[in-house]
Amino acid sequence: MTATAERHPELRAALRDLSKRFPDEYFRKVDEARGYPEEFVDALTEAGWLAVMIPEEYGGAGLGLAEASVVMEEVNRCGGNAGACHGQMYNMGTLLRHGSLEQKRRYLPGIASGKLRLQSMGVTEPTTGTDTTQLKTTALRKGDRYVVNGQKVWISRVQHSDLMILLARTTPLADVKRKSEGMSIFIVDLHQAIGKGLTVRPIRNMVNHETNELFFENLEIPTENLIGEEGKGFKYILDGLNAERTLIAAECIGDARWFVARSAAYARERRVFDRPIGQNQGVQFPIAGNHIETEAADLMRWRACELFDAKQPCGAEANMAKYLAAKASFEAANVAIQTHGGFGFACEYDVERKFRETRLYQVAPISTNLILSYVAEHVLGLPRSF
Ligand SMILES: Cc1cc2nc3c(=O)[nH]c(=O)nc-3n(C[C@H](O)[C@H](O)[C@H](O)COP(=O)(O)OP(=O)(O)OC[C@H]3O[C@@H](n4cnc5c(N)ncnc54)[C@H](O)[C@@H]3O)c2cc1C
Repeated sequence: MTATAERHPELRAALRDLSKRFPDEYFRKVDEARGYPEEFVDALTEAGWLAVMIPEEYGGAGLGLAEASVVMEEVNRCGGNAGACHGQMYNMGTLLRHGSLEQKRRYLPGIASGKLRLQSMGVTEPTTGTDTTQLKTTALRKGDRYVVNGQKVWISRVQHSDLMILLARTTPLADVKRKSEGMSIFIVDLHQAIGKGLTVRPIRNMVNHETNELFFENLEIPTENLIGEEGKGFKYILDGLNAERTLIAAECIGDARWFVARSAAYARERRVFDRPIGQNQGVQFPIAGNHIETEAADLMRWRACELFDAKQPCGAEANMAKYLAAKASFEAANVAIQTHGGFGFACEYDVERKFRETRLYQVAPISTNLILSYVAEHVLGLPRSF
């Protein structure tokens, strides 16, 4: 084990202990049934792992992004998929940073105990995609309510959440100075909303990941559910992205380590032409390359965590960590398929499942091109391209 992998060993040991109750067969069955890993998420919640970043005064552990990232990494490294529950860890940050004292007292203790799930964030729309400031969903104030109309796409975990953070335009684009102004965020009580202005249509997709189209037709949200100031919602969403990106980088590092370990184990054992396949450099070099790239991505993940936890700007590091980790995990996934030969395609080896799961992170929550564009513009000072 490397020095970087040994950071937070007690945390890792506790998570591995919990994960022993959820072996590969558990996640395989959930995947085959296109189900939700309810028992696993409950176990993580009961042990307090999803509340590590919530301050102690609200019932959480009051730890940093570094510790939170270890939780996410270990879930994926032990064969699971943190995508089922990672929203619970980072969505609450929006409430914590920008919510009123009353909103924090109302929601955070329930989120910390797991009684309330805030696993969903509704940003992406079908007609505007990555160009978020052009979004078409509107929330218009009428007395003590906002009335929401519009559509979202790819909104995850709605069927396994009590609450959702929603981004909508409250001032028309034509009436704002900058396109990033005039959007607001709301906390939506999903139990009150579904069937009363909100329709949820699941999207069957490549991964067993619960994600949906949302249709809003005169959905009423009480004004007290506005988070922070009206018109500043886009900035609030951006504030939360560094934590999200770093946590997802950690998940990818967990995946990459899982693939490297599985590839190395298989390459040591599988004998063809009277020798272990791993004796051939054509088989061992790609696995060694995956290990090197994973370790490099991990260093950038720790850099992002250190800056974030020291309340320093970390946009570049969080984006670069996500880029490197998502690339390392997908390359390790591809090599794992190749190393396993035909068995890489057999569901009972779990390689194909993890391959599908880790592929997502080059597209969501932000695509690789958009990270490159961020670095080109904000780090290298190249001209803005859009
Ligand atoms: C399984 C899944 C779960 C998701 N969960 C959520 C969720 O919970 N909440 C939520 O709000 N969203 C969610 N998303 C949406 C996700 O964030 C978007 O899919 C992603 O940001 C890309 O947006 P898009 O799909 O609209 O692609 P588009 O914006 O249409 O882009 C398509 C491709 O073109 C590239 N591209 C576009 N413009 C440029 C440019 N100017 N320069 C270079 N390349 C460009 C992109 O990089 C991308 O590769 C999820 C998506 C998936 C697949």
